[in-house]
Amino acid sequence: MARRPMMAANWKMNKLVGEAREYIEQLLPRIEDAGGADIAVFVPFTALNEVARMTRDTPIVAGAQNFYYEDSGAFTGEVSAPMLLDIGAGAVVVGHSERREVFGETDEMVARKAVRAVSAGLLPVVCVGETKEERDSGGMWEKVSGQIRAVFDHLGDETSGGDIVFAYEPIWAIGTGDTATPEDAQDATGKIRGLLEEVRGEDFAGAVRILYGGSVKPENVGEIMAQEDVDGGLVGGASLKAESFAELVNAASNAKSG
Ligand code: PEP
Repeated sequence: MARRPMMAANWKMNKLVGEAREYIEQLLPRIEDAGGADIAVFVPFTALNEVARMTRDTPIVAGAQNFYYEDSGAFTGEVSAPMLLDIGAGAVVVGHSERREVFGETDEMVARKAVRAVSAGLLPVVCVGETKEERDSGGMWEKVSGQIRAVFDHLGDETSGGDIVFAYEPIWAIGTGDTATPEDAQDATGKIRGLLEEVRGEDFAGAVRILYGGSVKPENVGEIMAQEDVDGGLVGGASLKAESFAELVNAASNAKSG
């Protein structure tokens, strides 16, 4: 099944509102010919209102990097799905390894967030991936498959494959410059698609976009995008400059045509 490529920027805890504005102003003219890819920019909450406003009626979807699965109430410091929708967000990163490792998010919390995002009509990009120690000790697939199975323990049968995106992000490759080889990226994303098929069938698995994340940059995006089960990228460092993110978007847009 043909899946539409997706290139996603994760700014992490970077950029003031003025910097965000300047970035979107620079990005928009550079992606005019990138009609072959979906584009998402995951920005800090403080910049989300402005980025959503600026990207309305453009090919860019403004997204949050996190949210909480309850809609309102005594959850000091949290932001809910209705709040994100209210300011025009269309997508959200769920279970980034920095949320899991630094803020203690469990598989169960990540699953609840993924389910709530889907039911709210926000596209969740659910991140999974192993540490260096887990990979070296042969535990990569146990970790990644466990993270994915937890989502499907909660996600309703009515969900379709287009409603959710997974990002395979080996933790050892995030922000390190140490990219997985294209073969490693294919091995993991292919296994993930196999698991999706096992739990929800071929049509569902064929429709889910699986991104690779971990030191993607203009120099390596081509060989990563060329892998059969890699449908795009989730990019931190190389997404911080509009010029370099635009190169990645254009590469994704051209990668799967023909
Ligand atoms: C990320 O933040 O999800 C990421 C993959 O970062 P980087 O591209 O910097 O490795």
